[in-house]
Amino acid sequence: MIEPRHAVSTRARQMPMPPIRAIFEAASRMDDVVRLEVGEPDFGPPAWLREAHIDALRRDSSHYTSFSGLMALREAIAEKLERENAVRRDPTTEVLVTAGATGALYQALQATVDPGDEVLLPSPGWPQYIASTQLAGGVPIFYPLHASEGFTPRVEDIARLITPRTRVLLLNSPGNPTGGVIDRARLEALAALACEHDLLVLSDEVYEHIRFDGHSHTSPASLPGMAERTITIHSASKTFAVTGWRIGFAAGPAAHIAPMTKIGLSTCTHPSTPAQMACVTAYRRSAEGDIAGMVATLRQRRDFLCDSLAAMPGIRCARPAGAFYVFANVEGTGLGSEAFSWHLLRAAGVATVPGVGFGPGGEGYVRLSFAASMGELERGVERIHRALTSLSVD
Ligand code: PLP
Repeated sequence: MIEPRHAVSTRARQMPMPPIRAIFEAASRMDDVVRLEVGEPDFGPPAWLREAHIDALRRDSSHYTSFSGLMALREAIAEKLERENAVRRDPTTEVLVTAGATGALYQALQATVDPGDEVLLPSPGWPQYIASTQLAGGVPIFYPLHASEGFTPRVEDIARLITPRTRVLLLNSPGNPTGGVIDRARLEALAALACEHDLLVLSDEVYEHIRFDGHSHTSPASLPGMAERTITIHSASKTFAVTGWRIGFAAGPAAHIAPMTKIGLSTCTHPSTPAQMACVTAYRRSAEGDIAGMVATLRQRRDFLCDSLAAMPGIRCARPAGAFYVFANVEGTGLGSEAFSWHLLRAAGVATVPGVGFGPGGEGYVRLSFAASMGELERGVERIHRALTSLSVD
């Protein structure tokens, strides 16, 4: 068959297909697969939030909102930022409601990066950082996360990578796929570096509330000198288990939020009105209290999965400080990350994501999500054990 090149842009053709996609599609075609590849909580939203959504559908909610998002939601978000993140933003000009954090990231990079500009990205890191940087014409430059330091970045590594073309430093804490949490002291040092080199910081904080073992969360925008150079990206997806509602937001200087809003007009305009209305209630409440039960359950699942994997031959893994992924080192099995993931899928019916999908720093690892139920994790662990036996790893 001749490829319809005339109908497909170079941009689209050159976009890499993330390895999660191939695994996801293969797993969807198979029966009886334990799905540990997707980053999606098995919990539903809290009952009060579901009710707020239903209530919004009963009210007059079928119209466009402001292009920046519902004013009441932006006000609730500004309150949340001040209460939980020590960040002050004007809801009129400095907050933009987006189609998830994905939309915020895309709009932020489109609004701030010129072709050839370099964007510093964590490696391993969430694959959309690479794709969205490239779609903006930017050049991804990877800084390593160190497994021995809880998958956090070193300031000196990042400093070495800065050139006259460096425009953006992207931070993600707690991080996907590693669960690494950057502590306040290190963030302060990174903030000083950003100020010294006049970098814009994009801070992806979608897992801000999913932390374990007393790790705390610091928003870079709250640090001295950072408010004017930081775009903070949050999402309701993980915090309130509403991935399908597509509610996220960006908060930053008006000079950045205005062009991001303009870019949004050519993408999704704004997310669904009923979902925005429901989230007004969500951001007025204290998320920490509301989701404490979910975080406690996730911690139990994390401990079970890590302890089980660590006891298996050829696998090493540390307990992640946040998010809901274990990034397990599988080098001891003798297989590369892609071969290992496909072996688990084909031989044992367990779907995971090969680490190579998260940038060059991901080789040798696979990502397993513990947002799946305990029953699924137990089934998965037993099957992984069997698959390793068939590899005869000692
Ligand atoms: N940022 C990170 C680090 C993620 O892991 C994800 C989703 O997996 C997102 C952003 C996207 O979240 P949203 O559903 O809000 O688009």
